[in-house]
Amino acid sequence: MSKKLIAGNWKMNGSLAANEALVRAMLAGIGQPLAEVALCAPAPYLAQLQALLLGSPIAWGSQDVSAHEQGAYTGEISVSMLKDFGCRYAIVGHSERRQYHGETDEIVATKAQRALSAGVTPIVCVGETLAEREANETESVVKRQLAAVIHTVGHCITEIVVAYEPVWAIGTGKTATPEMAQAVHAVLRAQLAAATTNPKRVHILYGGSMNAANAASLLAQPDIDGGLIGGASLKAADFLQIVAAAG
Ligand code: PEP
Repeated sequence: MSKKLIAGNWKMNGSLAANEALVRAMLAGIGQPLAEVALCAPAPYLAQLQALLLGSPIAWGSQDVSAHEQGAYTGEISVSMLKDFGCRYAIVGHSERRQYHGETDEIVATKAQRALSAGVTPIVCVGETLAEREANETESVVKRQLAAVIHTVGHCITEIVVAYEPVWAIGTGKTATPEMAQAVHAVLRAQLAAATTNPKRVHILYGGSMNAANAASLLAQPDIDGGLIGGASLKAADFLQIVAAAG
């Protein structure tokens, strides 16, 4: 495995002034990180990130991408538009999009393929709800979600990033224990191993209330290759501590 990847997901937060202060604080403290680092911002702020981050150790990306190439899809954002603003990553299939926007496994897989077609790395989110975990369905749910992507993108599967995000841990302060997270990451790695000869090439991130205090123990697990960070990516000091823990 190459360097770990720490990606921030700002969700629907920020303003021009707040983003500038946050990014400048991150740039002031980041030095030469041993991990790969990225920030995924709301679409209106991608131009701002491009201006602030170009030439820095921090890459940037979007929180979604259209499954369509172009045309009559009001409100959607195409991958070529993301490319225009220098995005390296696009989060796809975040549980909030699956839950509030009806995104199915097939839509998520098509979005991943669309991103790949333009050289943007999709960060594909998978994860079970609390009810699914309690019904012992965690493994079958995440495997079903990843299988749709494997089926659609074929041999390009080595070009994606996977983020295991248990829905019950997102924004709740409840984190999966390192052992719980590792167990699911191992399942995902085995599934990737059945699809490619190079499963270790795929970063499998953990997301769900990762913070400065718990990052090191999660990132020490053999199949946890980084983190997708929501709330803690809105605080420069916390985010930088997570980046340091990934070094
Ligand atoms: C996320 O939204 O991807 C996430 C992991 O959020 P949080 O870190 O706030 O739980």
